[in-house]
Amino acid sequence: MAPQIKTHSTQHLVIGYIALAILFVALWYVDTRQIKEQQELINSTSLATQKMRLIADLIEIARKRTRLSHEMLALDDLFAKDDVYLNIENLAGLFSEKLNALKKLPLKDDEKQILILQQNIYPQVMDMLGEVLILVLEETEQGDMLARNLIIHEIVPLQEKIVDGFMRIMSSIQKDVSDGTNESTEKHQINATFRYTLVAIIFIASLGVLFKVMTLMLNIEKSLQSDSLTDGLTGIANRRCFDHMLSHEWKKAQRSKKPLSLLLIDIDYFKKYNYIYGHQEGDQGLVEVSQVIQSATHRQSDIAARYGGEEFAVILPETDTAGALTVANGLLESIQTKKIPHQESDIEDFLTLSIGIATAIPVPKYDLESLLKSADDALYASKENGRNQVTVHIAKSIESLT
Ligand code: GH3
Ligand code: MG
Ligand code: MG
Repeated sequence: MAPQIKTHSTQHLVIGYIALAILFVALWYVDTRQIKEQQELINSTSLATQKMRLIADLIEIARKRTRLSHEMLALDDLFAKDDVYLNIENLAGLFSEKLNALKKLPLKDDEKQILILQQNIYPQVMDMLGEVLILVLEETEQGDMLARNLIIHEIVPLQEKIVDGFMRIMSSIQKDVSDGTNESTEKHQINATFRYTLVAIIFIASLGVLFKVMTLMLNIEKSLQSDSLTDGLTGIANRRCFDHMLSHEWKKAQRSKKPLSLLLIDIDYFKKYNYIYGHQEGDQGLVEVSQVIQSATHRQSDIAARYGGEEFAVILPETDTAGALTVANGLLESIQTKKIPHQESDIEDFLTLSIGIATAIPVPKYDLESLLKSADDALYASKENGRNQVTVHIAKSIESLT
């Protein structure tokens, strides 16, 4: 019988493909998430760099301001002192510029608080520096002393406070950056492990799917091959297979010089059988007869085939007429024992067969068509002589060989 393609094979294949698709989506998701995380890290690093640059400038300005304040005190010349003060004022403008730029960036709560503090301290410093200038301009010893005191005890500590505040923001930003980098490295490692595992699973799953596809294709191929060689109703060899095998066995017999026998079998009064019992019963009768014919052939090399309609054929390689006769008589006996009822048969109350036998050892003058014709003639003779019997045809040209 032709091997059936199991439907669950296709189901497994579909499940395999779905699993592969899910795995690929997971892989795509892992990759996209990783790219997003990397992008976020780059953005936060570039923001942190901007902030740190501005803060470094602000610290530098604050320090320069302290330096200039000291410088102003140390100078003797009034105009020179005024010049330094101008410089201090210029720095103040630059300071607010940088401070505003920093405020525009997205800041964390603690950063904002420190900035507010800076903003509050800043006007105090500027006011005090103004006072210093006025005291210095008095050009009195007392004024100078007061100015020095103001610078050393008030302005410088405030400046230091400003610098401290900025330093704290700076180190908190640096910490965030290094935490972010560490976290991202950890995530990257987890992602990489997950990714490699996924790729390995995808690889194994693809092998599984590939194996399933190959098995399925192999099954289909086998099934197609078998379909093209077997008869759909009876499951035994079909006419195509019979023609091929007969020609093959004929060639083998030509080489081995051993006899080849052919049985042509026809069911008697089968038209009537169909008529009384119906076509479906007729089909069932054909199946039963095919089974009887199949079991009457004992050798591995014997080939039973459906020749067409209610006619069958058996190829018996390396079998002489006597052997073929034994098989044919065995067949008649078996069908008689089976007693498949046939009320309208003119000869018996059950199904009977007529058989024609032809045997040949292939010689150049005698071809395959002649063997077939001989078997057909013998079958015709069986019909003519009353059916339910075997006739052996011996061709004149090969008489001496059989
Ligand atoms: P005979 O004894 O001379 O062989 O008579 P017969 O009626 O068997 O022969 P005939 O050639 O007149 O009719 C053969 C019948 O076989 C015709 C058809 O109804 C039947 N037959 C052929 N193939 C099939 C088939 O596949 N299924 C069924 N149910 N019947 C078939
Ligand atoms: Mg017929
Ligand atoms: Mg018939």
